[in-house]
This record gives sequence, structure tokens and C-alpha cells, in this order.
Amino acid sequence: MAFITGLTLAGDVWTPEFATSIDPKKCIGCGRCYKVCPRKVLDLIVRGEDVELDDDYDEDDTASIMTISNPGDCIGCGACGRVCPKGCYTYAPHPAA
Ligand code: SF4
Ligand code: SF4
Repeated sequence: MAFITGLTLAGDVWTPEFATSIDPKKCIGCGRCYKVCPRKVLDLIVRGEDVELDDDYDEDDTASIMTISNPGDCIGCGACGRVCPKGCYTYAPHPAA
């Protein structure tokens, strides 16, 4: 049985929010999320040509985007979304929660 909630050191209940998707239209491939992820959940990949970009996307940005390559290792810490400058992340509680 997986743990779907945890406790803070003070004993408060804390519900992890797991990374479920990264918006490929917004991601600029900056790598900030990759650097802070403690679980090797993320990987930089080449952007597919079929991805339609957002209007404010700078064409000088890299041709790479981040992807969730190993979702099963996510601990739901939320660090990736806090450092993302483009608001790419979507989260959800554990499916059993
Ligand atoms: S929520 Fe935490 S463990 Fe999951 S992908 Fe983001 S930084 Fe990594
Ligand atoms: S921090 Fe955001 S914009 Fe930067 S690589 Fe990660 S998902 Fe993409």
C-alpha cells in the first residue's frame, strides 16, 4: 500500500502533488527543473516539429524541452514547478488519494 499522505516534522499532514505533465508549448528547455529534481524523474529531449508554440515563445530559445521520463519515481515534492519560469507543470495527488 503506497503512502498517499505524509507528515511534516511538526506532525502536520502533507499531501504530495505529483508531476503529471509538462506543457511542451511553453517549455524553453532551461533545465531549472532538472537541476532541482531529487529523483531523476526528468529528461531533456529534442522538441518535436509538430509542437505548436505559444505566442510569447522566443525562437532563440533552445530546441529542447523537458519531459517526464520516469514518472514512477516522482515523490511529489513540487520543486520542479516552483523553479519553472514558464508555468509548464501540472500536478495531481496520488491516484489512490
Ligand atoms: S515533483 Fe519533485 S520528484 Fe517529482 S518531478 Fe518534480 S522535482 Fe522531481
Ligand atoms: S523549468 Fe520549465 S521551462 Fe525550464 S526546462 Fe523545466 S519545464 Fe521547461
